Amino acid sequence: MFLMPLMSGLMRVIVAGAGIAGLTTALSLHAAGLEPLVLDPARELRPLGVGINLLPHAVRELTELGLAGQLAQTGVETAEQAHFDRHGALIWGEPRGRALGYDWPQYSIHRGQLQMILLRAVRERLGEDAVRTGTEVTAFTDREDAVEVHAASRDGGPSSTLRADALVGADGFYSAVRAQLHPGEAPPRWSGVLLWRGITEAKPFLTGATVAICGSNAAAKFVAYPVARAGHAGVAVNWVAEAMIGGTEPPARPDWTQAGRLADVMTWFGDWKLDWLDVPGLIRGAPEILEYPMVDRDPLPWWGRGRVTLAGDAAHPMYPIGSNGGSQAIIDGRVLAASLAACGGDVPAGLAAYEAARRETANAIVLANRDMPGDRVLQEVAQRAPDGFGRIEDVLSAAELAVLHDAYRATSLQDTVALNTRPPYLP
Ligand SMILES: Cc1cc2nc3c(=O)[nH]c(=O)nc-3n(C[C@H](O)[C@H](O)[C@H](O)COP(=O)(O)OP(=O)(O)OC[C@H]3O[C@@H](n4cnc5c(N)ncnc54)[C@H](O)[C@@H]3O)c2cc1C
Repeated sequence: MFLMPLMSGLMRVIVAGAGIAGLTTALSLHAAGLEPLVLDPARELRPLGVGINLLPHAVRELTELGLAGQLAQTGVETAEQAHFDRHGALIWGEPRGRALGYDWPQYSIHRGQLQMILLRAVRERLGEDAVRTGTEVTAFTDREDAVEVHAASRDGGPSSTLRADALVGADGFYSAVRAQLHPGEAPPRWSGVLLWRGITEAKPFLTGATVAICGSNAAAKFVAYPVARAGHAGVAVNWVAEAMIGGTEPPARPDWTQAGRLADVMTWFGDWKLDWLDVPGLIRGAPEILEYPMVDRDPLPWWGRGRVTLAGDAAHPMYPIGSNGGSQAIIDGRVLAASLAACGGDVPAGLAAYEAARRETANAIVLANRDMPGDRVLQEVAQRAPDGFGRIEDVLSAAELAVLHDAYRATSLQDTVALNTRPPYLP
């Protein structure tokens, strides 16, 4: 065991986790003149996962980090989000991103590619040593003048203790930092919904940049959106097939890299027929299918203490309903860096300010995603018109349609004017 001295006069922050939250935090801390070091157990960081959506409030932050060009090159600027019944009839839709009045676009993007954009930027700006792979944070000791971070090597090397001014647990759903701060937490809370995910090369559908959501979580829901251009005039379509399996326990421990079986997905979606999207064909065409139970955790009454805090999924794991998990993780990193930069060396005060700015907002999104009022409206459509419909006005009242609209506002979107006029978190 060795203690790493604080080498420079800069505030040194150890970030557990090189995911979306950890890497954005590192870039933001660096931009604020602080010295981050990122630790991650993966021996090599590879572009894992499938698609996510980056909402305008997150794209603004990545733009202010100088990454707008890379996002535009890598992802697809989302044009609209639209809901359909399981036969493909339109229930409700609205534009997204700039078309909705935001100064920044929304992007549909491969999660792993986004992580690689952030990783490259960290290595270029902070140096190769700023991300230490093969290193797992196991515990910490919070002292008055510093925090000691205990780390284990995945390659059989010696364990180490690193000393820093602050520790950020951005170590994801099974956060070790959260487990030490909040021992004895209940196991993950399962919605009863199982998700299968994949990416398939296909022809563009609808606008060519639509997030399409068909069906409801009462039975089966299919979400599809392009995340990249692919092949000759084609797109890489990210799809998520969701089925209400029910029960109290998920079939397996939630793991983002768990493989799924084609036959299981086809049981639910094999007979789907939409005029504008070949659902069974998309599922069959995916080189790899991933399986994940839709889980979250109860919101925490507090995130951190002293020199230690949480960010991203470690702080507020949420159902992937409103495309906001990755986006909220990005905001965490920005606000955290701004709070530490402004704390005048009083690290516990800086972290408390970060938590005061972020916890209530993020916890409210966790609960709004869990409540899924929009899904109740979609279930009504399925019950009232199980074989499809001609005009949505014959199925839903204007008030019911407004519930759907408001539900997606609550889980996904910030007020347009407020976002466009807010001063930057970091100058
Ligand atoms: C491999 C993977 C694939 C994913 N795929 C999808 C997807 O397809 N769709 C989707 O909606 N969401 C996906 N997610 C989750 C999504 O990235 C997050 O919900 C969101 O982006 C918030 O990011 P985060 O950085 O808080 O968490 P994550 O992106 O989960 O990152 C957490 C990081 O912490 C690291 N870590 C874990 N334990 C420790 C430890 N003890 N010490 C140090 N580091 C640790 C992990 O290796 C990981 O790199 C995936 C996550 C992972 C890890």
